[in-house]
Amino acid sequence: FLSHSLQAKMSRPVQARRLEGIDKNIWVEFVKLAATYSKVNLGQGFPDFPAPDFLREALTRTLSGGNHMLHQYTRAFGHPPLVEVLAQFFEKLLGRDLDPMTNVMVTVGAYQALFCCFQALVDEGDEVIIIEPFFDCYEPMVKMAGGTPVFVPLRPNPPKDGKLMSSADWQLDPAELASKFSERTKAIVLNSPNNPLGKVFSHGELGLIAELCVKHDVLCISDEVYEWLVYDGKQHIRIASLQGMWERTVIIGSAGKTFSATGWKVGWVVGPDRLLQHLRTVHQNSVYHCATIAQEAVAQGFQRELMLYGKPESYFVQLPKELQQKRDWLVQSLDGVGMKPIIPEGTYFLVADISPFKSDVPDDPNSNEPYDSRFAKWMVKNKGLAAIPLSAFYSEAHKNNYTNFIRFCFAKEEATLKAASDILQKWKQEKTS
Ligand code: PMP
Repeated sequence: FLSHSLQAKMSRPVQARRLEGIDKNIWVEFVKLAATYSKVNLGQGFPDFPAPDFLREALTRTLSGGNHMLHQYTRAFGHPPLVEVLAQFFEKLLGRDLDPMTNVMVTVGAYQALFCCFQALVDEGDEVIIIEPFFDCYEPMVKMAGGTPVFVPLRPNPPKDGKLMSSADWQLDPAELASKFSERTKAIVLNSPNNPLGKVFSHGELGLIAELCVKHDVLCISDEVYEWLVYDGKQHIRIASLQGMWERTVIIGSAGKTFSATGWKVGWVVGPDRLLQHLRTVHQNSVYHCATIAQEAVAQGFQRELMLYGKPESYFVQLPKELQQKRDWLVQSLDGVGMKPIIPEGTYFLVADISPFKSDVPDDPNSNEPYDSRFAKWMVKNKGLAAIPLSAFYSEAHKNNYTNFIRFCFAKEEATLKAASDILQKWKQEKTS
């Protein structure tokens, strides 16, 4: 009798309903595949070159210095030296006064910043507009908050002159975008520069989004983790600086991307207190507090950058210069083997058209997995080269419209990029011989 009642109890679902349909995560799968099979990993977005000396030295100083309190808790919403320097930095960037205690909050990477935004601002039944292709966590995070994601795609317009496509050729259709806004819309997620395409939204495009946000009283969750990685003299424009947007925008940033130290997991949000006060409520009831030592070292990194702002020695000037060369190199080498690259205006990602290589990969008519996903798995297992399928950055409904592309990360040492290029060249030779 006892064992029967125990069994009956155990047949209840153990998981909360909010987890339904969000259990799959492509990174878990592809990171494992890359770890098992890849010789060259251009998949997940992290640099394989060292973080800058000044940052590593700051961490060493922090550890070995006399202040043993840096091993203890600090302020829950951000270590004071870090929120203070972030406030000073963003005052410069946004041209407005900021209060470090109410306009800035430190998080465990940009990822937790995003989670705080959705939990704090999105209610059951609210709609959140997401521009496709998108950094994949936005969708499950909206759903976990009880919201409904509404997708609007960037539409590719290939140049007619046979030139390589640029991320700027992927554009929103203004009428389509406008049609997604309604009284149910609570927020739009903007990610410029965009992962995976590397698109840097123009002033005109941001103006269109801003106008719709103001008209429909919609919030903007602005993921700007690649703010310093912009090429060809382009400028990253902050939507919060457009008319009517500061009061409705949360800016999200990441020390991981900014200082090439993704493992540190230090991120932040900058925005008006009327929004940030609710993010603080989520933060204090979940993570509460981020690692003090990492925050202290990032604060020192920002103090250096504040001093060198705009100067040639600034890391925020040097890093994009170096990455632009890596981008150009990878563009050339992909173009050389016929894997047409879409030239990114920003970020350290590059999307390439795999059409000419697709025929090498066996088709499986019984599978409903998008073809680019099977292609990427085949490529890492058979060629040792890891990349991420573009369909991973689309909603379920639109996944099958974009299965001709894979995303490479080019924040890599020259030797890594060269090894990738060698694999592709050998592959091409095998195809033609
Ligand atoms: N947003 C975007 C667009 C990203 O690409 C990433 C990292 N890949 C994040 C947020 C998360 O950043 P972090 O590592 O600081 O949590």
